[in-house]
Amino acid sequence: MTVDAHTHNLHATDALIAVEPDTFFPQPSQLYSVGIHPWHTDTITDDDLTQLRQTAQHQQVVAIGETGLDSLRGAPLGRQTEIFERHLLLAQELGKPVIIHSVRTSQQVVQCCRRLGITMRCAIHGMRGNERVAQTLIDAGFYLSFGPRFNPAAVLATPHDRLLIETDDTGMTIAQVADAIAPTLQLTASSLLAVATQNLQNFIQYTMSLIPPLRG
Ligand SMILES: [Zn+2]
Repeated sequence: MTVDAHTHNLHATDALIAVEPDTFFPQPSQLYSVGIHPWHTDTITDDDLTQLRQTAQHQQVVAIGETGLDSLRGAPLGRQTEIFERHLLLAQELGKPVIIHSVRTSQQVVQCCRRLGITMRCAIHGMRGNERVAQTLIDAGFYLSFGPRFNPAAVLATPHDRLLIETDDTGMTIAQVADAIAPTLQLTASSLLAVATQNLQNFIQYTMSLIPPLRG
């Protein structure tokens, strides 16, 4: 069962593997999210956006991302916002949820989704913000995905049905990440893995209902 909501490890199992359009080489029975990372927005071309649109329609692409806004890296925020909005509209059009990277931009991310009327599920990945930031995002309907570096108060502020876990680019296993987070919630690692598995299934459920069962 898929439990790791976000990894860049192309060989991960039980994971939603984040790729860019030009690194999407789908392997049997793997699930992917596709997007152009905010860090790579300064060199993006129209061809890249065309390739994104084509790749995003593949049946093993069950989410869009990672996409988002980063106030410390990548193109100027105005340009990042344009590209983020292209991802959001594509997600809405295709009926796929969104994996979002946000560094010191949580208000702007929420505003973009509201302005465009996005009703697809959205998850903030690599959530490191504090309790107040977490509450803003939860109130906006977002899922929060936590890795090994997290703010304990933010984890505690997250309703159990909105909580995801991830390995991202850490090289850790998802079991190790669960070991790191579970004590904060006074859960066993295996209970946390079960909760996170169910939540990730809910997160991508609508997409999964659109596509035929995967073979292989
Ligand atoms: Zn990532």
